[in-house]
Amino acid sequence: MQAYRFALDPAPAQERAMRSHAGAAQFCFNHMLALVKAVLDQRAAERSYGIPEPELTPPLNWSLPGLRKIWNGRKQTVAPWWGGNSKEAYNTGLDALARALGNWLDSKSGTRAGKPAGFPRFKTRRSRKAVRFTTGTIRVEPGRHHITLPRLGRIKTCESTRKLARRLEAGTARILSATLSRDAAGRWHVSFQTLVQRAVPVPGHAGTPEHPVVGVDVGVKAGSLLVVATPDGSEIGRVPAPKPLTRAHAGLRALQRRAARQRGPYDPVTRASRQPSKRWRRTQARAARTHARAAAVRQDVLHKATTALARQHRVIAVETLNASGMRSKGGASKRGLNRALADAALAGIRRMLGYKTTWYGSTLVEAPRYYPSSKTCSACGGRKPNLTLADRIYVCEQCGIVIDRDLNAAINLARLGDTPTRVKRGPVPGVHRPPAIGLEKDVEPPRRPEPRRRGRQEAAKRQPGTTPPTSIRPGLPRRKARLPDGAHLHLLTRRQRFSVQGRGGQGACCGRPNSENSDGSANPVISPIRPALMVSTMMP
Ligand SMILES: [Zn+2]
Repeated sequence: MQAYRFALDPAPAQERAMRSHAGAAQFCFNHMLALVKAVLDQRAAERSYGIPEPELTPPLNWSLPGLRKIWNGRKQTVAPWWGGNSKEAYNTGLDALARALGNWLDSKSGTRAGKPAGFPRFKTRRSRKAVRFTTGTIRVEPGRHHITLPRLGRIKTCESTRKLARRLEAGTARILSATLSRDAAGRWHVSFQTLVQRAVPVPGHAGTPEHPVVGVDVGVKAGSLLVVATPDGSEIGRVPAPKPLTRAHAGLRALQRRAARQRGPYDPVTRASRQPSKRWRRTQARAARTHARAAAVRQDVLHKATTALARQHRVIAVETLNASGMRSKGGASKRGLNRALADAALAGIRRMLGYKTTWYGSTLVEAPRYYPSSKTCSACGGRKPNLTLADRIYVCEQCGIVIDRDLNAAINLARLGDTPTRVKRGPVPGVHRPPAIGLEKDVEPPRRPEPRRRGRQEAAKRQPGTTPPTSIRPGLPRRKARLPDGAHLHLLTRRQRFSVQGRGGQGACCGRPNSENSDGSANPVISPIRPALMVSTMMP
């Protein structure tokens, strides 16, 4: 499965039709949701009057076919204009509602993993406008600058569709559906969900890659989006924020200042909403366009960077998202590049690397949840628990190394990728202690989570001193010791021992008690800045 997305350049009549379709989908969703709600409320009220269960108002069938049947019976009266749009528009709304209700039910009964899903809410004017076509004429025109959708006809695309068209012509892709959607800036895109037959990857790193293992850190400041480093501590790549992106950010700031001076929709004097001025609306529209532009530029840079990474290296280690969420509590979260944007970038990079590494046959290693990549010294392994985002340069108190913060983190991640601890995906519920790095058995990415977690907890309890006596040759990154039962156990390297001790409450790595863990429980909240650790925020 792969999606191909193209920006569209519709004619005015087509744009109206597209808006009509998306609006119809929303109308259908809201209408049916109101109906479902009414029936639910009615049944609840009847129950409260003590009416026996069989005499209650019959429940609605929430499945997609059930909803469709009800809608078809009502559309002539509630939406006499229904014939003006493709039936796919209504199907989009019904499908979304059936899914939302299903998710809500599953979440309530506990069969759904992840965050709890609430009862569906009504779509508003501000909701995303989209419509999905699953049947009918969905085509990419041979001229490669047009697509054809049911009812809407031939729509011009802004860019060439050759990437998809070539695959369709070669018979290695099949279109399953097409989704039209409108972004905040008012531009329409089409996204084709396709089934793609991929050739067996011949990775660019098939021979002897120059740097088989790399760590990637996402820059906090706008200065660098990505920093790539090797386990031996050298920086091999740095993706700077492109000029158009910084320019877009500057433009956004100016537009937001301007909007603040104009008559907005909220009156601070009377504390009431009011009709915003035309100029305020115009400024908002420009800001939305600038946002879309910045997002597109960022997306482009990240796509190019992640493709290069997945092609050129065998193992790529990245940070987990939660670790950066932890960082954002540092107080300086608003500094430089907006923290939310950086997090979104990190999520995007992980997602892109996730599928691109499978395309190109490389491996993605994700750091354990609380792996202190940016707080560990990459030279001596000392730790700095209260590093804040403002500290752009990492100055180690133990060995005196002065190193760029992002590079330091990237080196640590690369070393993690080099060690056999390959943890892929998976928050560890209830375990706030970081896993003992290097102590668990060699875990390769796709794995059943259960045995791994058990193994890790056992391993975390075992302290370095109690590991079976085996000769430890310093300097080698990893070793295996044969246990009586034949299992392999990785012994800790000096650096890993430091990080385990620092976290596990065994005092600190350098004789200094670790404030964060002195009670034995690793606390993810960053301690307040200590004056002794304050470092100048100036870049060299
Ligand atoms: Zn150090």
